[in-house]
Amino acid sequence: MNDLNERQRHQVVVIGGGFGGLETVRQLKKAEVDITLIDRRNFHTFQALLHQLAKGGLTPANIVARLYSIWSR
Ligand SMILES: Cc1cc2nc3c(=O)[nH]c(=O)nc-3n(C[C@H](O)[C@H](O)[C@H](O)COP(=O)(O)OP(=O)(O)OC[C@H]3O[C@@H](n4cnc5c(N)ncnc54)[C@H](O)[C@@H]3O)c2cc1C
Repeated sequence: MNDLNERQRHQVVVIGGGFGGLETVRQLKKAEVDITLIDRRNFHTFQALLHQLAKGGLTPANIVARLYSIWSR
């Protein structure tokens, strides 16, 4: 791809790496766009399992994942 084509690609900025943001990135992965994901934290929390964490059945590491590792799959 030459410089001109690179400049013509759309830049999509997704704010929030929650379920909505991650699904948006997943859907756009094969599109001819550059994607930037912005979150105030560098990890995703699987909120549906927070109650298990509160009960002591899981550790924080079980319900969070670094955004970078999800992003690069
Ligand atoms: C305890 C609990 C249990 C749940 N259980 C279920 C369930 O069993 N089934 C179900 O379907 N739903 C469940 N939900 C609801 C589900 O988690 C939410 O509907 C879903 O997470 C919403 O997705 P979202 O992407 O809109 O927001 P979120 O997943 O909350 O993501 C928002 C992201 O934006 C980031 N962010 C916020 N503000 C800023 C900012 N100013 N700058 C940068 N980044 C920012 C946050 O860090 C976060 O990563 C549960 C929710 C909770 C709290």
